[in-house]
Amino acid sequence: MTLTFLGTADSKGVPRFWCACPVCQEARTGGVNRRRRTALLLRGEGQTVLLDAGVDLHTQLAGLSGPLLPDAVLISHAHNDHILGLGDLLDFERYEGGNLAIYAPPPVIPHLAERFGYAFGEGSPVLPMPPNGVQFAGFNIRLFGVPHGANGSSHAYRLDCPGFRAALVTDALDIPARVAQEWLTDLDLLALGTSFADESACERGRRSVYDIREALALPWARAARRVVLTHLSHAVDVRRLELPDGWAFASDGLSLDLK
Ligand SMILES: [Zn+2]
Ligand SMILES: [Zn+2]
Repeated sequence: MTLTFLGTADSKGVPRFWCACPVCQEARTGGVNRRRRTALLLRGEGQTVLLDAGVDLHTQLAGLSGPLLPDAVLISHAHNDHILGLGDLLDFERYEGGNLAIYAPPPVIPHLAERFGYAFGEGSPVLPMPPNGVQFAGFNIRLFGVPHGANGSSHAYRLDCPGFRAALVTDALDIPARVAQEWLTDLDLLALGTSFADESACERGRRSVYDIREALALPWARAARRVVLTHLSHAVDVRRLELPDGWAFASDGLSLDLK
């Protein structure tokens, strides 16, 4: 069972196309800070599940060796950087006879219908994610609600199989203790979105994700056996930041063995 980070950037990607900062310049020449938008691939027991389908999905899938036919696609929330790749998948389903099981939390589906109206004409191609989750690639996969600061609300993924528990929380801020207690304790792996190193100078009401400084202090993150930081912006230069043991920065193409 493997989890592959196809994209590890914040919503704007790295480099930001309008930016000439040192990180964006380094990324532009193919450096270690180059990042595409969010998508993850979970593989196991002969099945492939795509978790989110960001703006860069076509290049991400085209770059994989061998043709890819995901069995399922699970969407966390309706922001462009997590869903615009869905257009390619809906076309594949409609015109190429694909048989994708596409799931999203019920409150997200109307936003997808609005964005991809042409594909919703004959009934929704997106299924409501059942509260007890779905079984794919050897995992029970669930989605749970998390606050997304100034950007409203989002969902995070919880993956469970015997002897292994993971949570993928790309877009969240100020997760209440009761949610952390229910979903984020005793984790073998936590992938956590931290777009900036330190946003303490920014008004809290304008923020939407944790920063690295906060992540390092979160009790449930500190208790996870392994933490991978993702959803990173051009404000994070991985050449200049050090993380404690058990913590690492994600990079595009990073593949983790889960069991
Ligand atoms: Zn995002
Ligand atoms: Zn920049």
